Formats: sequence, C-alpha cells, structure tokens
Amino acid sequence: MQLEKDLTNIQAQTDKNSEENWQFRGFLKMNIDEDDLDRIVHKINADISSQIDCTECGNCCRNSYPILKKNDVAKISKGISLGLNDFTEKYLQKDEDGNMVFNTLPCPFLKDNKCTQYDNRPNDCKSFPHLHKECFVSRLWGVVENTKICPIVFNVYEQLKLKFPKWKKEIL
Ligand code: SF4
Ligand code: SF4
Repeated sequence: MQLEKDLTNIQAQTDKNSEENWQFRGFLKMNIDEDDLDRIVHKINADISSQIDCTECGNCCRNSYPILKKNDVAKISKGISLGLNDFTEKYLQKDEDGNMVFNTLPCPFLKDNKCTQYDNRPNDCKSFPHLHKECFVSRLWGVVENTKICPIVFNVYEQLKLKFPKWKKEIL
C-alpha cells in the first residue's frame, strides 16, 4: 500500500476526516481488546516506520513540545557545554501542567530538518510518536491529534481502519 508522506496532503486529509477519526477512536476504545490492539498497532508501526525517514521530515520538532525530565536537561545542556541554569533560562519553559518543555517552536535545536543534538536529545523525542509502547488505547487522544503532524501516525491510523472494515456499522 502506497504511504502518504506529503505533509500538506496529510493536513488536508486529517482536516477532512476529523469527525471520522474521532469516531474510529471511540470504536477502538469500546470494541477491541487492549492487548490485541497493541499487537496489531506494533506490527503496522514496525512496517510503516521502516518506510519513513524521519530525517526527511522533522515535523514533530516543528509542531510539538517534548517533555524534558531532569536527566534530559542535564544531558543536552552538557552536550552544548552550558550550565543547567543558563540552559534552562535560555531554552526552557514550563507548560500548563508544569512540565519542562522547549520555549520555541520549531525546537531551537532543529536545523534543516535535523536534530543538532541527536545523540543528546530527550527521551521523549526518541520515543515519539510512541506507537511502539503498550496500551495504545490509553493514548488514543494524542494519536488522533498526531495524525495531523506525523506521517507515521497518519499512515498507521489509516491502515488500522482497514483492519476493521466494518467498524462504521459497529458504531451505528
Ligand atoms: S531536541 Fe532534537 S529531536 Fe527533540 S524536538 Fe528538538 S530537534 Fe527535535
Ligand atoms: S516522528 Fe513523525 S513527525 Fe517526527 S520526524 Fe518522524 S515522521 Fe516526521
């Protein structure tokens, strides 16, 4: 199956399919066993991730705020030889939940679609878009949101719909 990688097309399709995407979320939550869903998502994700080159995209670094834990801040500040306090003042802010996040979008360390601190990037960046994790069903809200910005998430979600071809009838 041909993957959609064009960010403009992805944005247009997610705008058009917004209601359907939220309805499908409801179907998955109510009808599919949590462990079965994880197995299916992990398989689709492995296949799709192997076909998408994140270094050609970088869209998550332009559109989302990864959360930095203390060890992330220590590692990345050391990587650019800046003290913790100076790094925090220059690059970080607290979000509405009190988490440490970068203070600009795009991320200040993104240059030409590449992370200039790749080896020292926060764990949240390494893990994004988190589809390899357990309990996919508990993160569905974020998944639907991320279909708008991440080609991996977009394509996984579209292929997931194809796995349950009768899902629309089930929710009527
Ligand atoms: S630290 Fe690197 S991977 Fe993380 S958001 Fe910034 S540019 Fe992207
Ligand atoms: S994780 Fe998604 S949004 Fe981020 S660079 Fe890879 S494909 Fe693009």
